Amino acid sequence: MSSKQIDKIRNIGIMAHIDAGKTTTTERILYYTGKSHKIGEVHDGTATMDWMIQEQERGITITSAATTCSWNKQTINIIDTPGHVDFTIEVERSLRVLDGAIGVFDAVSGVEPQSETVWAQADKYKVPRLAFVNKMDRMGANYENCISEIREKLDKKAAAVQWPIGSEENFAGVVDLLEMKAIYFPAESLGSKIEIKDIPADIVDECQLYRDELLDNLSEYDEELTDLILMGEAPSVAQIKAALRKATITHNFIPVLCGSAFKNKGIQPLLDAVLDYLPSPTDRGELKGHSLKDPDKVEVRKPEVDEMFSGIAFKIATDPFVGSVTYVRIYSGKLESGQTVYNSLKKKRERVNKIFQMHADKRTELQEAFAGDIVAVAGLKETTTGETLCTENKPIIYDLMEFPETVISVA
Ligand code: GDP
Repeated sequence: MSSKQIDKIRNIGIMAHIDAGKTTTTERILYYTGKSHKIGEVHDGTATMDWMIQEQERGITITSAATTCSWNKQTINIIDTPGHVDFTIEVERSLRVLDGAIGVFDAVSGVEPQSETVWAQADKYKVPRLAFVNKMDRMGANYENCISEIREKLDKKAAAVQWPIGSEENFAGVVDLLEMKAIYFPAESLGSKIEIKDIPADIVDECQLYRDELLDNLSEYDEELTDLILMGEAPSVAQIKAALRKATITHNFIPVLCGSAFKNKGIQPLLDAVLDYLPSPTDRGELKGHSLKDPDKVEVRKPEVDEMFSGIAFKIATDPFVGSVTYVRIYSGKLESGQTVYNSLKKKRERVNKIFQMHADKRTELQEAFAGDIVAVAGLKETTTGETLCTENKPIIYDLMEFPETVISVA
């Protein structure tokens, strides 16, 4: 795998206060990404949905600690991020291994106290985020208020990248403020196609206003964009996208989108935004840990396949089919089935018996996995959550709770 392919991975979490729609949003993401695997087949998504019902009946969570799916030929790994305040340590552990996150909000309740806690934790780890204002179909849904609360309560620079068409039960779609096109969502049914149309005449001016506001916000971070605006020239969509990506990744700027997960509205544009604006493992740059022999000596690993292997175990779980597995985020190099790795904290060798990639409805056994990947490993006996796995000849320790210090380098 070349480093180019590492660029095509997104390791994300979905953060929300209880009831905002995290589960529904995750389910719909798995549905739409699962569907894209089966191009050419007559497929109504029942496999995934049946599986979800089964999982619910068995009373276990619908996603494993990490679920791999794919969108537009790129890989999205969704890392389960607990939403409850009592699981603060668990939240921190999962925040540590993801590169970006979607914050889900309820359009009626706005930013609730629980979100403030989780967002503060994500700030600590400088996790780039998108906001998805869900439940736009509900009576009293207020998108603008939600954006204001993201700015005020969460102390973030944020701007809409979509504007809703219709509200409450008439919520029909969104205007993409970059492309200035209307995206209409199908009436409630799963799997139907979205339609791209012109912006309804009565909201063109309003959308132009919010587009200008977005550009204004972005020009703070991008000189090229500022120059163009000052010269009265219109930046291209590609230029705005690049500026938005940079602002999101390097300045924690929050692009805001909206939808209604429950009614299958807004999920596809949300997935596009994950690919467009959230970082890949390469964007996070070099990883810094410390040497085993000398804690003051900094050890560095590049997020590349040709680098020495390093990874972090972030969750031990029991999988109904595989048994006990350790979820590992690979930061550098590659991991092979049958290989021996070194647990630098415990100073123990561990054998990797099997490597699995966990999907919504199946597990795939892999012979090898690479930098940027998140996999479930069977066979590790000593390793516990938070510990670094690496090569024995040059061990590295990533600090338990600190996000690897990174130089974020977005062109
Ligand atoms: P979680 O606690 O954040 O995982 O939230 P859930 O996904 O379980 O959703 C909480 C409740 O809100 C459930 O009853 C969902 O059916 C409902 N819900 C989720 N998304 C929407 C939406 O877009 N609109 C409306 N009206 N209800 C929704």
